[in-house]
This record gives sequence, C-alpha cells and structure tokens, in this order.
Amino acid sequence: MWLRRLLGGGNSNDSRVLHLYVACNHCHTPVHVRVDVYNDLTLEYDDREQAVGYVLRKEIMDARCFRLMHAEILFDTTRRETWRTVEGGVFVDESVYNQHIATTQK
Ligand SMILES: [Zn+2]
Repeated sequence: MWLRRLLGGGNSNDSRVLHLYVACNHCHTPVHVRVDVYNDLTLEYDDREQAVGYVLRKEIMDARCFRLMHAEILFDTTRRETWRTVEGGVFVDESVYNQHIATTQK
C-alpha cells in the first residue's frame, strides 16, 4: 500500500512532511499535496524583526478543472501548524482523498 497512513509522531524523517488534502470548490476533486516543513516554509518577522513563525503559501491545482486554489498555512517558530485556510477549495480528510483514488483507479 503506497498510501500507508503514518502513525504516531516520533522523530522519523516522515514528521517533516505535512500532507494536505484539498478539494476543489468547483469540481470537488480532492488533491494531495506534500509539504516539506523544513524547506517549503518562509520565516516571518514582526516589526521589531523578531521571528514570529513560518508561513506557507501554496497554489494547488486539481487535475480535473484546473482551477487554482490558494492555501495559506501558519506555523509557530517550532514549525508546528497553528492555522490554515484555502481559497477556492476546502480541506478534507485523507480518507476522502483515498476514497477518490479508490474510485478513479480501477
Ligand atoms: Zn476543480
């Protein structure tokens, strides 16, 4: 099974990967996006130039209607996710995505 669920936290290399599942508002096709939290995030500063955390802004496109979705995710300084939003789509569970794959790949 190539979509084996990652259990637990730990310090394995897998913990640096954040899996996003977003469904397009228009065609409802779910998309899976991998984020490397050690490479893909941008450090943000406040007006006193203190690091306040990280931000990820990502454009996501589904393979059906090809509309762009814009995800924005905030992290604290330890790269832990604190907030997320997506324009043009909604975040869905991994199970929704797996279901989609199961019904489209026969
Ligand atoms: Zn779409």
